[in-house]
Amino acid sequence: MFSSQLLKWYDRHGRKNLPWQRESDPYKIWVSEIMLQQTQVATVIPYFERFIKRFPTISELAAGDIDEVLHLWTGLGYYARARNLHRAAREICSQHEGSFPSEVEKVYQLPGIGRSTAHAILTFAFGQKLPILDGNVKRVLTRQHRVHGWPGEKRIEERLWKIASNMTPAERTADYTQAIMDLGATVCLRRRPLCGGCPVANTCLAKKHNEQDRLPTPGPRRHKPIRSVSMVMVQKDHSVLLEQRPPSGIWGGLWSFPELEPAIDPSLYMSTRFGLAIDAGKKWATLRHSFTHFHLDITPIPATLRKADNRIMENPGLVWYNLTEPDARGLAAPVKKLLDKLG
Ligand code: SF4
Repeated sequence: MFSSQLLKWYDRHGRKNLPWQRESDPYKIWVSEIMLQQTQVATVIPYFERFIKRFPTISELAAGDIDEVLHLWTGLGYYARARNLHRAAREICSQHEGSFPSEVEKVYQLPGIGRSTAHAILTFAFGQKLPILDGNVKRVLTRQHRVHGWPGEKRIEERLWKIASNMTPAERTADYTQAIMDLGATVCLRRRPLCGGCPVANTCLAKKHNEQDRLPTPGPRRHKPIRSVSMVMVQKDHSVLLEQRPPSGIWGGLWSFPELEPAIDPSLYMSTRFGLAIDAGKKWATLRHSFTHFHLDITPIPATLRKADNRIMENPGLVWYNLTEPDARGLAAPVKKLLDKLG
């Protein structure tokens, strides 16, 4: 009953014209599923189109440069997704002759593809009958079945997987999967779900017990720590000095300003680390960038170069980034914001 009611609603109201929905190419579906993690559909569309235009196939992505991949990801956040996509494309080329595998166990082995994402790709691309359990689906199912307990807990998650598996129909699995994702994204909202217009309200136990606002059960409250850094924006003519970050960790592989502890003197730091003599200007207002596990407070410090020092160009991890003719490289969102302000 649940699936047939949901499918009826989907036939009338579901989203069917998103760029990746016109595709049966598993590569494009894979890219869309990765971009859609933690990101809204409307934000993803232009990124998806640019990405596919530049890298239309898995082999072209595998042959591409990570810098360019990160550049196309600039602003989407969660850059590990882009690095894993690139790594997985290379693995698919070396281990599966460039074709996205259709066996679920092989998909699980690829970097950056969890159980729900693997199932969604195989369902949409190959019509397989596999349940999915992303954030939207978890919300719908905990409410429909009145599942108490934090879904981040293993026991609760396994229960939800069982429910998801039982609910997934053998017929029209891809449409059902899209329908339940759409229901979570547009009707069964996190706050104030639109139960009055819900096609499956009659089977919803949370609604029956008036517990929609209490489910899903929230996880333990975590206090987000604050980290503070300074970023030195050294300018020379129309360029500014950028440094590539280490390949792993936050903003791994992206380009950023030289970063230091706030207590350290920027002139001393730049001269010790890069042999550059700078004049530091007045600090800009601190800006906050929030990650899942902590807040990063950034204090930007503008600076000018006292004398040109060409030795710095000998390091491949450093670049004088042209503000008037910017080239293609991956930039973290706050760095991009600061570059725009400098430009
Ligand atoms: S009735 Fe309300 S809480 Fe239940 S599934 Fe529908 S929108 Fe969600």
